[in-house]
Parts: sequence; structure tokens; C-alpha cells
Amino acid sequence: MRTITTVREMQMIALRLKREGKSIGFVPTMGYLHEGHLSLLKAARKENDVTVLSIFVNPLQFGPKEDLATYPRDFDRDSKLAEQEGNDFIFYPSAEEMYPGTLSVTARVQDRTDVLCGKSRPGHFDGVAMVLTKLFNIVQPDKVYFGMKDAQQVAVVDGLVKDFNFAVEIVAVETVREADGLAKSSRNINLLPAERVEAPALNQSLKIAESMIFEGEKDPREIIVQIREHIEKNTTGHIDYVEILSYPDLKGLDRLEGTIIIAIAVKFTKARLIDNAIITINKES
Ligand code: AMP
Repeated sequence: MRTITTVREMQMIALRLKREGKSIGFVPTMGYLHEGHLSLLKAARKENDVTVLSIFVNPLQFGPKEDLATYPRDFDRDSKLAEQEGNDFIFYPSAEEMYPGTLSVTARVQDRTDVLCGKSRPGHFDGVAMVLTKLFNIVQPDKVYFGMKDAQQVAVVDGLVKDFNFAVEIVAVETVREADGLAKSSRNINLLPAERVEAPALNQSLKIAESMIFEGEKDPREIIVQIREHIEKNTTGHIDYVEILSYPDLKGLDRLEGTIIIAIAVKFTKARLIDNAIITINKES
């Protein structure tokens, strides 16, 4: 495995690999790897000749009051884990390497940003779209792997790829969880010990929602009430949002039908956690 820190070298390697007819599977991350990231890498390993993992804590996707400074980082550990998965290249640029000067052109996401994390993190998806546009041009991937834990990101990136005609296929991978149901996240390390005990309540609330739907509940408001109640009763966290929308277009619903996303975000002392469930509801049920 090789670690590449400059844009120029990464791009030259990628272009050479393409000329040789090799397919490139790409996993963009912010590092502090866990099994969620590794499941993306495993999928990329299986489906491509060469894999590239990027580790870059992208300042553009953090708001001024967010956790850019405290975002966990451990490159040596990440590098060992990636190597164990048989990864070929880590692209590990500095912020100065990626953003050497004032930007003269930026990406702006205008659809699907008025809900969920788009609403509570203004500018977040603009930063995501910007960095991915750069990374796609640098890494030249055939396939790019994203986790469904960030389902809104998958939907937004789908729009980016279609609108900008990137010749890349998006592969969405299921959320990997801890044994108690908590979605794996680099940010889980920033939970206080008592909060870590409470955090599975997020996934539990989604399970409650799923069984209500299974029992025939069609009113999203009823479900939202139950989710909020479960989280409020079982955690000290502050609910950022609980929303039920159509998926992948993320439109509001009066009545549950088709494919929907139930998405939640909860702020703890030093970590904001998200989770979601995507469910397809049969018309006749
Ligand atoms: P991050 O480093 O948090 O930006 O995540 C990098 C990629 O890993 C994104 O596509 C995430 O959706 C994905 N990811 C993060 N957590 C998980 C998880 N628990 N299961 C599957 N994929 C995940």
C-alpha cells in the first residue's frame, strides 16, 4: 500500500492506471476508520482492480460552530487497518494541498438541502459536493462507495454525478452497527461514557417506528411523536431533527407510501449522531 499526499502524484497514478485499463474503486472518508468504512473498502476491493481510500477532514463541510477541531484523527491506525483490507493507495492530502488559495468556482447544492442535515448544517452539502468534485477528478474512480448511514449524502451525490456527468458509478453500502445497534461512527468516540450507554436509543426508536409501520400506521406525525418520546425518555441528548420523507427525493409526506426514510439527528455533549431507516411500503398494505 502507498500513501500519496499530493494532488499531482495521485492524479498521475490514477491516469496511468486508467491507461493500463485498470478499474479504480474509491472510498472517500474523513478517517478514524471503523468497520463501516472497512465494509466500503471490502466492497471496493471485491469489485475493482485497484482501490483508493482518501482520508481528508474537509474543512468546507463543517460549519463555524461544528467539530472540525475535535474531529478524531489517527493516521497510523487508519493506515494499518486499510493495509489489512488489502487497500492499494491512501490519498492523504493536507487542507493546503486541497485548497491552496481562494476558490474561484464552488459547488452549490440546490436540491434536497432544505431538509435533514442540509437544513441543520447550512453549507454542509456544498462542501461535500466541492470536495467530491475535486476528488473525482483527482482519483478518476470507476466506482465510488458511500454508506447508507449518510443516506442524504448518497441522494445528494447522486444528483451531483448526474448533473455534472461524472463517469462514476455510485455504490451504496448498508450501515454497519455495534452489537447494541448503535451505528458505527468516528464521532462515537466523542460520546461521554453515560451518553454511549444511551446512544442505542436512536436505533431503538427507528425499530419502534418500523414496527408501527408494519402494524399499518400511515400517519408520519404519529410515528415522529413516538420516536421523539423514546429518545427524550432514554437519552440526555438534544433532538436536532426527526423527519420522515420520501427517498431518494426527500420530499415531505402526509401519508406513508412508497419508499421512505425515517431520519434522526441527536446532539450530545461533544458529538452529534445521525441514524436512519429506509423502508418500502407496499401500496395495498
Ligand atoms: P466519514 O468518514 O464519516 O465521512 O464516512 C466516510 C464514508 O463511510 C461515508 O460514505 C459514510 O456514509 C460511510 N460510513 C460511515 N459510517 C458508516 C457505517 N456505520 N456503516 C457504513 N458506512 C458508513
